Amino acid sequence: MNEHTQKVALVTGANKGIGRATAEQLAALGMTVVLGARDPQRGEEAAAAVGGVAVVLDVTDAASVRAAARWIDERFGRLDVLVNNAGITGSGPVSPTDALDQLPSSVDLDMVRAVFETNVFGVIAVTNALLPLLRRAPAPRIVNVSSGAGSLALASDPDGPLTRLPASAAYSPSKTAVNALTVQYANELRKDGILVNAVSPGFVDTDINNHTGYLTPAQGAAVVVRLASLGADGPTGGFFGEEGSVPW
Ligand code: NAP
Repeated sequence: MNEHTQKVALVTGANKGIGRATAEQLAALGMTVVLGARDPQRGEEAAAAVGGVAVVLDVTDAASVRAAARWIDERFGRLDVLVNNAGITGSGPVSPTDALDQLPSSVDLDMVRAVFETNVFGVIAVTNALLPLLRRAPAPRIVNVSSGAGSLALASDPDGPLTRLPASAAYSPSKTAVNALTVQYANELRKDGILVNAVSPGFVDTDINNHTGYLTPAQGAAVVVRLASLGADGPTGGFFGEEGSVPW
């Protein structure tokens, strides 16, 4: 038994990549972990591998979000940790340096819509569906998996680390919006003791970037898990990477 043993956590997009590694590490802390996955079979396989339970959850499908929240309510009656991890770049499994289809001057607006549907509106839909269950937990935590690519401070620095990436009107702005939402949710929920933070996992070797990242999913998940298991004196409304605060 430890402080986390009684906790229930939901990770969206947990069938692979950073979400799956996050689920595995939360389970290792002793939490009961619900792995959200839009494909039932891949969700079940991941859940069996990491020692959690699977729920079908497509963050862009309102009925799916409602059903998952109802399932967690019936089974556990509350939720202690929500990790909004599900995300897409819009360019498919392409290295970020090759993702030229997101250039603002020529981007397909439908692609931008699809990216925001998953990365931004999906966060709002899932968070709001789960908030009644989070409010029943003694110390609820919400972690939004953002990206350094969403940092306006980094993106607007002509000598900064993001200059090697092509400009993006889809993925990067979607993560900037996730950061903005994180601050707004944190401000609303501060009085209720619900800590809400955004994380930058670093450049992680997953399908999303055609395995060009240099961190393992476990390394990328570490900061997510740290924010998901914050104590009562932990921050809210912040943006963190493994090394500490990330500039907005
Ligand atoms: P990944 O391996 O491609 O995993 C993405 C996960 O999101 C998959 O489980 C995917 O499910 C799920 N997903 C996509 N759309 C969904 C939807 N509509 N409903 C539910 N699940 C959905 O990529 P990853 O690198 O682990 O990405 C996880 C998060 O980290 C994303 O938010 C990403 O933007 C962020 N991130 C990654 C990096 C990096 O370097 N890898 C850096 C910064 C931020 P399917 O298997 O069904 O497609």
